[in-house]
Amino acid sequence: MLHAEGPLLTLNLTDRTATRTPIDDILERYVGGRGVATALAHDRIPFDADPLGPENRAYLAAGPLQLSTTSFTGRMSMTALSPLTDGLASTNAGGYLSREFAGAGISTLEITGASDELLIAHVTDEGVEFEPVPHLAEATVPEVSEHVAETRGLGPENCITIGPAGENLVRFACVMTYDSRAFGRGGLGAVLGSKNLKAVTFDGDAHPEIEIPDPPAMDVHREAATSDDRMKRQGTTGGTEFINENFSLPTRYFDEYHFESAASIGGDAVEEKKYKKEACSQCAYACKLPTRDEESGIETEGPEFETVYAFGSCQGIGDIVDVMKANELCDTLGMDTISAGVTVAAYLKSEDAFGDAELAREVTERIAYRAEGDELADLLAGGVHRAHEDLGVDDYTVKGMEFAAHDGRVLHGQGLSYAVANRGADHMYGGMLSPEYAGEIDPEGTLGKSSLLVRKENRNAIRDSAIVCAFASDYVTDDRLATLLGRSYDELLEIGAETIARERHFNNRRGKDRGDDELPYEIPDVNEAIQEYYDERGLREDGTIPSDRIDPVATDLGDGDGSGDAAPADD
Ligand code: SF4
Repeated sequence: MLHAEGPLLTLNLTDRTATRTPIDDILERYVGGRGVATALAHDRIPFDADPLGPENRAYLAAGPLQLSTTSFTGRMSMTALSPLTDGLASTNAGGYLSREFAGAGISTLEITGASDELLIAHVTDEGVEFEPVPHLAEATVPEVSEHVAETRGLGPENCITIGPAGENLVRFACVMTYDSRAFGRGGLGAVLGSKNLKAVTFDGDAHPEIEIPDPPAMDVHREAATSDDRMKRQGTTGGTEFINENFSLPTRYFDEYHFESAASIGGDAVEEKKYKKEACSQCAYACKLPTRDEESGIETEGPEFETVYAFGSCQGIGDIVDVMKANELCDTLGMDTISAGVTVAAYLKSEDAFGDAELAREVTERIAYRAEGDELADLLAGGVHRAHEDLGVDDYTVKGMEFAAHDGRVLHGQGLSYAVANRGADHMYGGMLSPEYAGEIDPEGTLGKSSLLVRKENRNAIRDSAIVCAFASDYVTDDRLATLLGRSYDELLEIGAETIARERHFNNRRGKDRGDDELPYEIPDVNEAIQEYYDERGLREDGTIPSDRIDPVATDLGDGDGSGDAAPADD
């Protein structure tokens, strides 16, 4: 049975200690990535913690496949109590971090406490060093990378970093790696900001030995290399026009479902600006999108489809260069493009200013810096849920998280998925959009879809634990995933279900219940469908899970402050 290898490294920023603790049983049970991080977060973050307080804990975790040379595995997962949703949130990023992280000889990083000055933590296989960096206050993500390159000789692939938005506690600030890849959703950048942690670097040669089954590992790699999918040329933007034709591209802050200028910001427009190939570590699929516009001089990576929606159709903006500029701004300042774009779209609606790209950029920048006395920036930094009343617009969020594209008013199974997802209105959690777009199931209606939704949620939880890229499902099939991990597929689904159950239980203990599984719009039979979902999951009618179904696995690990059972890492 394959699982991540190596101890948990806890950084306590209050007293600047680093503690390595063996967690072999947890790794064996939950594989790695999101599964392990969720188990730890559930047991170690107090149920009444303030998301922006020192008692919150952030987890960065690898899975076993990060030790392979197979395509689709250049990914890492982060988990914490989210300042945006006030529940547990896991988020996933690509890039080149995973191999550097493994080189430091750990499976999971835990960050707790809070420093009294801005720090970078440098993690190697030999120990941890805390570097005070007050001069990097409000530095952009590339400026931090520059500092790390100059002082340590490391690249952006060695780092996780926050920008000004994280430091200024914007509730949708993200954590960046490789300068352009985002642990995007849920505001985990603000969690690091609340701890005064500007960056963490990883370096070392302690990669654990692990044997990856071949086949299928090399088959996956070969197929990724030889595939001629459109996505390899256009990334996720390749579907923009198809989605628009399906009337599921939210436009002008959800006033419409179809954008007349979709072709100007879709796959062909992005491909025209693409100037080279780019990938994540080891990935022969190489779907990333370095783009450049010679006339304006703007250079960025992306935009991906969700940014095309959030800073394009949702704001009524139909020029790809404007979307590229917004994408670069968010990467540089460290903000989730979906939540930032939708929040700015809500503002544009309140000002009757759809299509004003310059205003959109100005407001985006103001949100990240939250200058003293800038009341608008403070208002929007909380996201749509906290700002909508003052703006006089509808609250297009679930559990406080702004919607991804793929309109649930048209794709009803996806709408159901948005309603019940523990993370909020995110498309990667359940992913009912794929069978609905493909015509495998009728997009119309919600009844009878819960059993597929549960299966997909469980599958995605395992995918995020292994960790495999979300775009790999045609290559890392269910059977292959089971072979790679050395467990039956049903067993894997069961582990995924346990992860989802822990998320829900944590959120229940913070007071979330049926009232939080609500959409801001009507779709057919949604109440009955939610009850079907609860029945599938064995939840009570009020959306809660009985506590006796959750057994603690990480309550005896010590506090990560050098006490308890843990052994100090650095003497
Ligand atoms: S498919 Fe694309 S996003 Fe996924 S790992 Fe490969 S290059 Fe990265």
